Amino acid sequence: MKELEERIRKEGTVKQGNVLKVDAFLNHQCDVALYDAMGAAWAEHFQGKTITKILTIEASGIGMACVAARHFGNVPVVFAKKAQSINLDGDQYVTTVYSFTKQREFPVIVSRKYLGPDDHVLLIDDFLANGKALHGLIDICKHAGATVEGIGIAVEKGFQGGGDKLREEGYDLDSLAIVESMDPETGDIEFRG
Ligand code: 5GP
Repeated sequence: MKELEERIRKEGTVKQGNVLKVDAFLNHQCDVALYDAMGAAWAEHFQGKTITKILTIEASGIGMACVAARHFGNVPVVFAKKAQSINLDGDQYVTTVYSFTKQREFPVIVSRKYLGPDDHVLLIDDFLANGKALHGLIDICKHAGATVEGIGIAVEKGFQGGGDKLREEGYDLDSLAIVESMDPETGDIEFRG
């Protein structure tokens, strides 16, 4: 998606540790018109698939998932919650995710009330790096018996390999911008062609 690539080039900053900051339009201040264009792009890619629910992970995925839902017949958006501790009362699906940005593991939960075997799920997240967050969401869908129909990502960092692994696993993955390389010294960002 050219518009997203241009915004990343103009307003993104490359930090040490393979972190790309896009706070100006995606992760802190939210450009709703851009979110809308992203939702339209995913709707085009996943055209013909039955989607009953969008699943994302808090916090950054929520805004873009809600705007995207407008392009999928206003399906409900469920976000996995990052829990400090787990209350194992059986009402929740639980998995563990290693956070790229926080560099630690934490439990992630979704209530059984909001995901089940009849659901056909589109996973949405802002970034895809090593794929840990998405594998957590896939794990939750497996616990629920739900079908993962596809994955919509705003920014994939291709050089970290998580996306290619998911494609090898057979998932229909639509990343709107794929960063092939980025340099914290020069600020240069190259996209996959
Ligand atoms: P993964 O689990 O694929 O290794 O990392 C994806 C998760 O980590 C996303 O949910 C996102 O919040 C965060 N993340 C990974 N890399 C970046 C990055 O370069 N910039 C930002 N802002 N978040 C990232």
